[in-house]
Amino acid sequence: MAIREGNLEAPKRHPIKWQEPDYYDTTKINQELERVFDICHGCRRCVSLCNAFPTLFDLVDESPTLEVDGVKKEDYQAVVDQCYLCDLCAETKCPYIPPHEWAVDFPQLMLRTKASKFKARTSSITKFWRDRLISSTGSLLKTLSTPGIAQAINSASKSSKLRAIGQKITGIHANAPLPRFHPKPADKQLEEHIGQDLPVKKGSKTTGKVAIYITCYGNHNEPAIVKSLVDILIHNGIPVQLLTDSNCCGMPKLELGDLDSVAKLKEKNIPVFRRAIANGYDIMSIIPSCTLMYREEIPLMFPEDREASDVANHFFDPFEYLMGRYKDGLISTEFKNHLGNVSYHAACHQRVQNIGQKTREFLSLIPDTSVTMIERCSGHDGTYALKEESYEHAMKIARPVLRRIQESQPDTYGSDCPMAGRLIAHGMNDESNPESPLKMLARAYGLGN
Ligand code: SF4
Ligand code: SF4
Repeated sequence: MAIREGNLEAPKRHPIKWQEPDYYDTTKINQELERVFDICHGCRRCVSLCNAFPTLFDLVDESPTLEVDGVKKEDYQAVVDQCYLCDLCAETKCPYIPPHEWAVDFPQLMLRTKASKFKARTSSITKFWRDRLISSTGSLLKTLSTPGIAQAINSASKSSKLRAIGQKITGIHANAPLPRFHPKPADKQLEEHIGQDLPVKKGSKTTGKVAIYITCYGNHNEPAIVKSLVDILIHNGIPVQLLTDSNCCGMPKLELGDLDSVAKLKEKNIPVFRRAIANGYDIMSIIPSCTLMYREEIPLMFPEDREASDVANHFFDPFEYLMGRYKDGLISTEFKNHLGNVSYHAACHQRVQNIGQKTREFLSLIPDTSVTMIERCSGHDGTYALKEESYEHAMKIARPVLRRIQESQPDTYGSDCPMAGRLIAHGMNDESNPESPLKMLARAYGLGN
């Protein structure tokens, strides 16, 4: 059969075979890395996406053969360490992803290599514990938002001396922007059930009731964004339930290759989501990565699990949901405030959900509002921007985004991903906060925070 250049069909990613022993076999992994690296070396179209591809191409170009066979196997890990599993190369660029017969799925191969390394525990002790700590967002963020501790951490994060000591002990870069901690998390600020007396209006694709997966970050670091989402839904006549008994989505553990921990978190969360779905709710979160986890990553890890695929089918991005309801004539377009010139960063983990430009489309409904959309990686990428070995790379990746925002001289700016928004503000030395699109929308509706 003739091999064609690129796919004409939509990407169809293969299930992740993480429960098979071969998945962790380093000899087989190295053979697959060599095969895929060779295809990438011949292609090179992902060179500007992240630092993984430039690292690979530098290794090839500096090898004695100028080919992948000249790169030492022990240097492969340098490429893997630069991948933060944003999925952009696979979902937006690669013509060789399945169903193409070359079956290149670069992030899935990076995940496999990370998982094998995690099982073998070959990281240094400091990095092993640092990574375990910063990926345990559920317990870590809960502890750091305890009254008293939250205020102490927020003020300590401004001290360059303490941050330098912190970098030596924890491996978290002294300049990396740390999230702010709130002593009163969203689940303590907001009622668990709101608007239950509102009449439920079913849409063509939506049930008309929303259960909010608060997420660790939304709960402890950005409760105001969760509140904006609640206000917007109630304003549009949609009853809301907060899923206060949910756990971390597992994305930070996935990024680390700790797939057993991802599976444990999934086992805790799926029954919580299923209960809400059985009671007629759709589900959404304010963090694109957490949404992606249950829409794509968990179903790929558990392809036979019908409950997981049922959850995936009921999970929405907030603006995808609002746009769907708008098309059904079920959304208010009475706005009290215009937003002016908005600079909006589309988060990678939202873009790879293949839902189109729903945030831009919805914000553009607001009168006297023009939206400049920036589709480049912010560089935050989970814990990548926090680590001492990758913070500088993250800031380099962020530069084109910062330039675009500065050039557009916006009245307001922000990202679907609040962490990306904070990194962008940090890169621009902006002491004020970025404004998440949900907060922008709440402001346009005249809803207070
Ligand atoms: S998944 Fe993202 S970070 Fe990883 S190689 Fe692809 S583009 Fe780079
Ligand atoms: S991941 Fe695909 S598109 Fe990107 S460099 Fe490799 S082969 Fe080319």
